[in-house]
Amino acid sequence: MNFKKPINLHKLTYTEMTELVVLMGEKPFRARQIMTWLYRYYAHDFESMTSISKTFRKRLADEYILTCMVPSEIVKSEEGTEKFLFPLSDGAAIESVLIPDGDRLTLCISTQAGCRMGCRFCMTGKSGFKRNLTPDEIVGQLLAVKRFKGFKGKTNLVFMGMGEPLENYDNLKKALDILMDHYGLCYSPRKLTVSTAGIIPGIKRLGRDTGVNLTVSVGASDDDLRTRLMPVNKKYPLGMLMDTLKSYPLAPRQRITFAYTLIHGINDSQSHALKFARLIKGINSKVNLIAFNPYPGCEFQSPSRERVERFQSILIKQNLTVMIRESRGRDIDAACGQLHAHMVDNNK
Ligand code: SF4
Repeated sequence: MNFKKPINLHKLTYTEMTELVVLMGEKPFRARQIMTWLYRYYAHDFESMTSISKTFRKRLADEYILTCMVPSEIVKSEEGTEKFLFPLSDGAAIESVLIPDGDRLTLCISTQAGCRMGCRFCMTGKSGFKRNLTPDEIVGQLLAVKRFKGFKGKTNLVFMGMGEPLENYDNLKKALDILMDHYGLCYSPRKLTVSTAGIIPGIKRLGRDTGVNLTVSVGASDDDLRTRLMPVNKKYPLGMLMDTLKSYPLAPRQRITFAYTLIHGINDSQSHALKFARLIKGINSKVNLIAFNPYPGCEFQSPSRERVERFQSILIKQNLTVMIRESRGRDIDAACGQLHAHMVDNNK
């Protein structure tokens, strides 16, 4: 690997870290030591890595850098959802949301500052695109929340915050490598869920390269309506998307999740439900229904609970597994960005 200076050690996979320490003239086990400090003890400076000799620590501090993300704002909702706002070094800002669900925690993290997908039901889509996040900024959200909350256990991790993860594939893949590496955060792929608006080349690569869960935001079951709601459909229309999903490699008991945002009078009728059931027929999947969560200045309305339940019962009659996902943290605006478009799939 060609290491570009200044080298940020939080950007390196275990393989790269090993390569680097060997280039420094050190033994490969140094890579394990550094990874342990970074990902087991959440160290964000070299001084605290006390099992490493002082001389080597000094050399690291002189030549390398680390990422330390610190939230500028934390807001907690009545039902326990917490939203973390992270300012980035170049002035951009991203958010992560920690969602309690019974005895489990799910952390929803961002992969881009802004988003260029322009989904009409999404506030992030309206605010434009700033840039891709780097692997350390993706993983750094988890490290910061763990440090702040002081917990060692594993949350479910969903890539459903700001941005389209598959538009930032290389950095996402590297972040996943660090998360799943034995010397990284040692995550099982089953605890990781990547959510997409339907970027076909990215779905193919993700299926080939990782074993993580996949959520696909659908929003409509015909191309005209979907293109109006989600412009990405022009490039990757529903037929092509469904064909791709049919061949997505799934482990035993693993299923693709479809997220369908119900918008009053737009895509929530009985015929929409039947069309949607026909569309996803033959795909090993489950469905999350999310009632659209209005944001200031939006043109759409949320459907009534009755309409959401009617949509659900039509799908269930078509032998589909369907959950209604509640929008969490409305009182703290946790549902802005992609959170209101997709919904947390807790891998039930
Ligand atoms: S719903 Fe997701 S993909 Fe669509 S604009 Fe919002 S953040 Fe981007």
